[in-house]
Amino acid sequence: MKYIYLKTIGTMETSIVEDLKRSLSLLIPFSLRCVYDNEYPLFAFEPERNQYYAKKIIVKLASEIPHDCEKLIAITDVDLCTPVLTFVYGEAQLGGKVAIVSMNRLEKEYYYLPPGNTTLLVDRLVKECIHELGHCYGLFHCHDSQCVMFFSNSIFTIDNKQKRFCMKCKEFFERQIGKEHNHAEK
Ligand SMILES: [Zn+2]
Ligand SMILES: [Zn+2]
Repeated sequence: MKYIYLKTIGTMETSIVEDLKRSLSLLIPFSLRCVYDNEYPLFAFEPERNQYYAKKIIVKLASEIPHDCEKLIAITDVDLCTPVLTFVYGEAQLGGKVAIVSMNRLEKEYYYLPPGNTTLLVDRLVKECIHELGHCYGLFHCHDSQCVMFFSNSIFTIDNKQKRFCMKCKEFFERQIGKEHNHAEK
């Protein structure tokens, strides 16, 4: 039995992660496992940018993947960037094992809900997790603005898209799952 791991990096509210896990498990055909790692070293900090390099964290996580892990999605509340982008909501290894999603800007930007109401935040996290998971299965960005694989560089494009793949992306995703599983069994 292989799991999709949700691994928290840094301090995260347990209730948000549990809500995320619950929502995701209804939307993707995998069993999910949460790992809380508040002490995970945030070695990828860039003092000049006051952000963390997503790629560095992904490379480290990929080097220590648990044996029963199908894919690993790291969830963090720190702000992520790449050398060329001012920020990213998340990043993934295309066709690889590891992705990372940050709730930093999902929470802070245009987040008008009263304190304690985390529904919108969890919705956004769900979308970004499925998006990055899609990349882990080899999906590229989609032109359909409703599709979860649509590229988001603002909270508006995230809120506008659905928590699911369009038909085309869904077919590709399911085909890839089948391929990876057949390959693993041989
Ligand atoms: Zn993407
Ligand atoms: Zn699509």
